[in-house]
Amino acid sequence: MKFIKPKDIENLYDTLDTTEQQYLLAGGTDINVQINNGIIRDPNIIYISHLKELSGIEETNNEILIGSTTSFKDVIESRIIKKYFLLMYNSLQNFASPLIQTSATIGGNIANGSPTADVIPILLALNAKLLICSKSNKREVPLKDFFTGYKKNVMKNNELITKIIINKNAEQKYQTYYQKVGSRNSLAIAKVAVAGIKKVVKEKIIDIKLAVGSLNEYPRRLFKVEEYVTGKRLTEIDFEKVEELLNSEITPISDFRSDKEYRYHVCVNLIRTFLNE
Ligand SMILES: Cc1cc2nc3c(=O)[nH]c(=O)nc-3n(C[C@H](O)[C@H](O)[C@H](O)COP(=O)(O)OP(=O)(O)OC[C@H]3O[C@@H](n4cnc5c(N)ncnc54)[C@H](O)[C@@H]3O)c2cc1C
Repeated sequence: MKFIKPKDIENLYDTLDTTEQQYLLAGGTDINVQINNGIIRDPNIIYISHLKELSGIEETNNEILIGSTTSFKDVIESRIIKKYFLLMYNSLQNFASPLIQTSATIGGNIANGSPTADVIPILLALNAKLLICSKSNKREVPLKDFFTGYKKNVMKNNELITKIIINKNAEQKYQTYYQKVGSRNSLAIAKVAVAGIKKVVKEKIIDIKLAVGSLNEYPRRLFKVEEYVTGKRLTEIDFEKVEELLNSEITPISDFRSDKEYRYHVCVNLIRTFLNE
């Protein structure tokens, strides 16, 4: 195992271009577990959390930019996040434990790509984008298009996530919803998570974004359910139809945390609750 600490961001990009079998280490709360368990063998570890360009929360005219190595502690203590994204501010208060919050980063949670990652459904509901950079290229990728399979994503070997970008108005005038169901309130991995925002005018849903975690190989939006309920009054929604569409969009599994029937029924109930609110 080799450790590399780039001296600045340019040196990081050069290192990414020239190193084989490389893994970034931000807070280390996921990757250290994978190294200890032998899932990752003989890696070249590249530290990134000391690079100031990658951390902090900035406000521009229309957007909020969150540096990828911003810790969850800094996210939940940020006045900017509290002002613009109460959904994220409230939902992440119980993330892991206070100790883990000081190291774990928002970019690490996304890049690690666990189906249970807490921040991904919230960012999907807020329609976030990722700024992905390499030495020679910068591109914005909507988070909804980032994952391609279980722990797989569109990033190339020499790229990293530098920022998470959210429109300032993403949840303005929307009702918001988040439920994470786990064995206890903190230090618990989600069995099911549902995040959503909806705008209702004269009792009609005119816009909705719904995302789930722990129900597929990666967290995802429920586009078919969204499309079906958009433009409908609550009284016009056929919940059997919602269940049918949901069935085609989620693939819950049974594992040591929960069984698939439980996950399915909890998901149906949470979505029904949000739609009925
Ligand atoms: C005790 C404990 C409790 C936990 N509880 C929770 C919980 O409640 N909810 C939850 O969602 N997670 C939880 N986790 C998982 C973990 O803390 C989070 O996923 C965390 O956000 C990962 O961030 P990190 O900075 O530590 O990532 P790291 O471990 O440093 O990196 C994780 C992966 O992402 C890659 N990576 C990191 N940063 C970038 C980047 N900027 N660009 C591209 N790739 C990058 C790394 O190469 C690595 O593959 C827990 C972990 C532990 C050990």
